[in-house]
Amino acid sequence: MFTEDEVEKLRKAGKIASEVRRWTENFVREGMKVIEVCEAVEAEIRKRGGEPAFPCNVDINEVGAHYTSPPNDKTVIPKNSIVKVDIGVHVDGYIADTATTICFNYELSNLKEAVEEALTVAVKTVKAGVKVSRIGEVIQATIERYGLKPIRNLTGHEIGRFTIHGGAHIPNVGSLNGYKIEEGKVYAIEPFATTAEGEGEIEENGVGFIYRILKEKPPKSGEEKVLFKKLKENFKTLPFALRWALKVSPTEDFYEVFGRLVKARYVFSYPILVEKRKQPIAQAEHTLIVLRDRVEVTTL
Ligand code: MN
Ligand code: MN
Repeated sequence: MFTEDEVEKLRKAGKIASEVRRWTENFVREGMKVIEVCEAVEAEIRKRGGEPAFPCNVDINEVGAHYTSPPNDKTVIPKNSIVKVDIGVHVDGYIADTATTICFNYELSNLKEAVEEALTVAVKTVKAGVKVSRIGEVIQATIERYGLKPIRNLTGHEIGRFTIHGGAHIPNVGSLNGYKIEEGKVYAIEPFATTAEGEGEIEENGVGFIYRILKEKPPKSGEEKVLFKKLKENFKTLPFALRWALKVSPTEDFYEVFGRLVKARYVFSYPILVEKRKQPIAQAEHTLIVLRDRVEVTTL
């Protein structure tokens, strides 16, 4: 079970995450550079006394997850697009994970409505002892009532200290998963939906610009060892952006050394995830603490 101090840190992270989410909804405009959004979101988190728990994700149209700007990104928010901004905050390793969909195309506004309603219904379903398959069922039913499809291979997840994706998964469709929600744990619930023309599945689309330390021990020697130690010291077990890594170690041969760490699997690269039929995706997400007598949504 959580101590009162731990619950306070989870609450603080949640408050910062929801404030920044609201701030972002007013900030993002068509034609804006994606890197401007990422950097502004990360700065807003720090301004409020939190740390980013992962790089700000800006996932446009058919991209479902894991896009953050690389250094000097020239990508712009397109006209008539649907944009997901996924925000992670931690306070001393206690994490809040929340996301919103910003829709510049009124023909796609039902996607946003569907995931928001699915999230509301799902959150009400959560309590200790409830099967996660039940949560998946209500998410699926809500999205299908809009004539849309849930993304079946993206899920919510348990969250640990300094660990964004803990053990359990919370499906977005009915499933045979027998796992039950447990007291004293933190979970993120995140419904994703695509159009009726979509496959309802994402696939990997090349490498991305988000990374995580994968191995416990550093490489034996050389520049790799130095860089690995710097990355581990700064980001621990949390995901980090290429932008951040470059700032931590602005050496001339950074890309060469970093590339070797990725190749030797000291560092994991999160692939960008795209809808299989390139259909637009919407997402909504909240983080919850399951306590003995109640469930607290930290990111409301
Ligand atoms: Mn998220
Ligand atoms: Mn999440």
